Amino acid sequence: MRVAMIGTGYVGLVSGACFADFGHVVTCVDKDPTKIDQLNAGRMPIYEPGLEDLVAANVRGGRLSFALDGAEAIRTADAVFIAVGTPSRRGDGHADLSYVYAAAEEIADLIQGFTVVVTKSTVPVGTGDEIERIIRARRPDADFAVVSNPEFLREGAAIGDFKRPDRVVVGLEDERARPVMAELYRPLNLNETPILFTGRRTSELIKYAANAFLAMKITFINEMADLCEAVGADVQQVARGIGLDNRIGGKFLHAGPGYGGSCFPKDTLALVRTATDAGAPVRLIETTVEVNDARKKAMAGRVAAALGGDELKGKTVALLGLTFKPNTDDMRDAPSLDVAPALIAMGATVQAFDPEGMEEAAKVLDGVVFRDGPYEAVEGADVVVILTEWDQFRALDLDRVKLLLKQPVMVDLRNVYRPDDMRARGFRYTSIGRPQRA
Ligand code: NAD
Repeated sequence: MRVAMIGTGYVGLVSGACFADFGHVVTCVDKDPTKIDQLNAGRMPIYEPGLEDLVAANVRGGRLSFALDGAEAIRTADAVFIAVGTPSRRGDGHADLSYVYAAAEEIADLIQGFTVVVTKSTVPVGTGDEIERIIRARRPDADFAVVSNPEFLREGAAIGDFKRPDRVVVGLEDERARPVMAELYRPLNLNETPILFTGRRTSELIKYAANAFLAMKITFINEMADLCEAVGADVQQVARGIGLDNRIGGKFLHAGPGYGGSCFPKDTLALVRTATDAGAPVRLIETTVEVNDARKKAMAGRVAAALGGDELKGKTVALLGLTFKPNTDDMRDAPSLDVAPALIAMGATVQAFDPEGMEEAAKVLDGVVFRDGPYEAVEGADVVVILTEWDQFRALDLDRVKLLLKQPVMVDLRNVYRPDDMRARGFRYTSIGRPQRA
């Protein structure tokens, strides 16, 4: 199959490279010349484990290429994927569909022969209908079908998720698209991946429902963590105790500073808007959004409390981890964007380190001093805060950390270390939802 992938970001680049690895001929198109130049030079514009090798192998194999101008690729494609961004629209939280619609217009002008136009971007219910309308209005003669095929990959584990997904969801209204989609994903038959064919609107909603459910699950355990702290229980044991029940499942039950990232915040908000507009409000999700926003903002207060006060004047805080989760350089809606400014507003000097995210972080975080490594960040600080659970922060030389700190205080917002252990090592240690025995 010949594939044109419009948008070469986290989703477009990973999907494009994986489809090429499945044996299809893929052109990844992006309007950002820097990205295309980097990719043509063999450099990855994003950090994603395993991506550089996968891209290199498929470029070498002649199945993967990159283009600023998608005309040729779109003309000859069996399937054109739209994988552009759908950020929150300023002001109202609706998904901003301007990039999707612009891509649809470009595609309309170019397709030749029967072409399946596949929306991989996360888009509100009814967007497929609008894409169909746009293409038809612009090219009444075009022969095409618009399909919804939401992406469920996680950054940091994106290649494995794409190649071994729990399921693939395909929403279509035109049966001619079914064999094309089945052929694109045929290699997944080997590992018996369920491919769920639904109507297009249903498929669009499945993506939002999945993300909203996961965001709610995280928020649920975060509230249980606060309750654990209030009543002297241990949230990790609560999570295990409930997670072993198959109806609940153990994943996404790690208490922390609140969810962030490029998907959950914007997708929960967009679902709330869609539901409100449709006259069927989703109150659980409205509350999830509110509780999570408040949580991220409250984390700086925990740091001040660990130093025995409610402000941080004259204090230095070492922040370990800035990206919204490990193994990515993605800073979109990361908790650090709430935590660092709040620490600074309370009077602190913040010195931070992140293994992959500092270049992005420097663009969006004002007033933070960036350091070259975890120990450099910790040096001379009054408290060290673990904000993202990168592997290298799980295995810190704690004696060295203790020597470098002005006082041995750690606030572990990811429950990486064990309270008893830390106390035995002489730290004043606080974490999330675990008993603080003296
Ligand atoms: P991204 O911002 O990393 O990438 C989008 C890319 O599209 C950018 O490089 C941009 O330059 C390009 N682009 C925009 N308009 C274009 C056009 N007309 N022609 C060519 N290129 C164009 O975004 P992302 O994180 O890859 O997300 C893309 C979509 O996938 C979003 O809807 C998102 O919600 C969804 N999604 C993301 C993830 C994730 O983990 N990042 C997971 C599942 C779904």
